[in-house]
Amino acid sequence: MISRIEASLDADRPTAIIFSCIQRDGDGWEAIRGFTCGGFSCETLDGWGFLLPLNETGSLIAAGIADEEFCAGCKNPTMDYFGSNDEYREHQSAYSAYLAKHGLTVNSVHLKSLRQATYPIDATRQNMDVLLGPGRASRMPIGDDLVLILGHNCD
Ligand SMILES: [Zn+2]
Repeated sequence: MISRIEASLDADRPTAIIFSCIQRDGDGWEAIRGFTCGGFSCETLDGWGFLLPLNETGSLIAAGIADEEFCAGCKNPTMDYFGSNDEYREHQSAYSAYLAKHGLTVNSVHLKSLRQATYPIDATRQNMDVLLGPGRASRMPIGDDLVLILGHNCD
């Protein structure tokens, strides 16, 4: 059976999930197996995800992130290749600045998971208010979790 997360990706909709690498039970959690990310490095993401009901603003932001708009000023204008450490740090700082411009945050630990097709955001109430609409996250299973915008991998 196709998961709601897969259905959202297949429909080419901006897709955001709360991500957990340990098993989570309860309504809305779905297994993620072998999601391709990391550009030509072809990494895979495995874990559990909770599909977030993005509002219009959240969808626009997620679409911009998945299109790697934040890389417009980077030496490498996409994250297709991992590149050198300096190039990766440039992507990280451009990405953080892009989030800040939209009222969103990513801490230094979560920022390490930035890859093509998986873009991290802190799962704070404030960020949820931006992505879902004010107060919409009150029933969400959030804590120190990570939100990932799932995008397209080049390979
Ligand atoms: Zn970049």
